[in-house]
Amino acid sequence: MFSFRPHAAAAAFVHPLDPPPRTAVLAPRFRSTRTSRVFPNGWDNDVATFAPGAIAGAFDQLLAAADAGLQLTHAVVCLTWDTDNLLTDDQRDFLWEAFGVPVFEQILGPGNTLLASECDAHAGLHITPAYKGATTGIARCDCGRSTAPAIRINHGCRQTLRPVAQAR
Ligand SMILES: [Zn+2]
Repeated sequence: MFSFRPHAAAAAFVHPLDPPPRTAVLAPRFRSTRTSRVFPNGWDNDVATFAPGAIAGAFDQLLAAADAGLQLTHAVVCLTWDTDNLLTDDQRDFLWEAFGVPVFEQILGPGNTLLASECDAHAGLHITPAYKGATTGIARCDCGRSTAPAIRINHGCRQTLRPVAQAR
């Protein structure tokens, strides 16, 4: 059945940092959260007014933000939907020089499902169970952390969250 709620299926942006800083997501089909605001049309002055500590978007959107002189304090997250189009070393260097904050790369699938993400070891990508494509050509991070991103749950109880054991 046709839905008039285009945001219903939108994914939440999975932040590489925990706790996540104030983040602008410069891509459509994401939903805003407590810490991230979605700018579906990409870079514009509203993003600068939002004054994010981190931004996420396709490389051309990050480029537009860099050209506009946006200053960041935490991270720049490059989103790609195409495993044949991962960041080159030159692109990564450009982002580092433009923003002076760590660069994280993420591969997303249809509906913006997270398929692979870079952690702060910056040693490659963590493939999620949703990823079904070929992994040749993708450098896997061997930092030993779970492929699942750390999720902070604030529900007031003192339960200790343990990382899920990684099958090796
Ligand atoms: Zn890692």
